[in-house]
Amino acid sequence: MAALPGISKSLAALVIIPLALSACEQPDPADAGAANPATNANGLLFPAGCELGKDCWIARYVDHGQNGRAQDYLCGEQSQTGHKGTDIAIADMGRMEAGVSVLATADGKVLRIRDGIRDISVRRNGAASNDGQECGNGIMIEHSNGDRSQYCHVKNGSIRVASGDSVKAGAKIAEIGLSGETEFPHLHYTLYRDGDVIDPFDGSKMNDRCDAGGPLLWANDLPYEALTLFDLRVGTKAPSREKIWQAGTKTLESSSPAMVITARAMFTRNGDSWHMQIRNPKGKIAADQKVILDDDKQFYYHFIGIKRPAGGFMPGIWTGELTARRGDDTVKKIKVEFRTE
Ligand SMILES: [Zn+2]
Repeated sequence: MAALPGISKSLAALVIIPLALSACEQPDPADAGAANPATNANGLLFPAGCELGKDCWIARYVDHGQNGRAQDYLCGEQSQTGHKGTDIAIADMGRMEAGVSVLATADGKVLRIRDGIRDISVRRNGAASNDGQECGNGIMIEHSNGDRSQYCHVKNGSIRVASGDSVKAGAKIAEIGLSGETEFPHLHYTLYRDGDVIDPFDGSKMNDRCDAGGPLLWANDLPYEALTLFDLRVGTKAPSREKIWQAGTKTLESSSPAMVITARAMFTRNGDSWHMQIRNPKGKIAADQKVILDDDKQFYYHFIGIKRPAGGFMPGIWTGELTARRGDDTVKKIKVEFRTE
């Protein structure tokens, strides 16, 4: 639930590329990450009303690292030292304002809630302002087997339950927010058993070794991805780090000063390559750039853009694309369509 460490500044520069460029190679289709079909009939329901990989993403797992090195349950690096839960992130503040449900993972009784903390990025108000309330607005539910579920960073004023209430599995209890120690809208979910943090992906305790191979506690397996790519954000100017979680747009004026596509990711690696392109409504490549990432980053973003040409942007449906490669593999390819009018 902590803030994100710094990202590379050197690459965060707007690249202006002339409209007329020759056609470019077509990247290979993205590798499809097949989900393990494992299920657990009595398992925990997914705690957010969104579709993983489409409009929400796992941003961090429970830390199983030893000696201060963060490791997720599969011994990957998608965690943060001391991270006690599973972070489920949504695209931006626009989605947050529209409302993404926080759902009870199992039947239970509400032990306590905290509400009234504003949805403000820790980048704006500083970590010290969250002392003692890093979770922000939160809910603690005790289940019939004694396990407890904690939900953090929920939206101010969105909590629908009170202490002592009984809740059913899947019931909406709040909405995802930005309260407490966070700079991006997400739900931090922690499962406790006898006071220990338990990883719902394999039933092991936090700081137990990774790859323990224990039982899935979720009702349905959730696909693991080595790189978390958020959806591509469309805007009219280069976004600052502070603005990166503000809502983008799907419609640009043809007179907009620029067209900018921003890619955002968690857990990039030194040597990853990102190929970004913008295509005009005729399918021609209007901007094209490849970058090689120069360090392991917990959070990274990069953008590509086009300045308004004389006469404005061509009206119609434009496309932004990112192909992310690691080694020789295409890790992921994502696309966004937007209208210019
Ligand atoms: Zn967290």
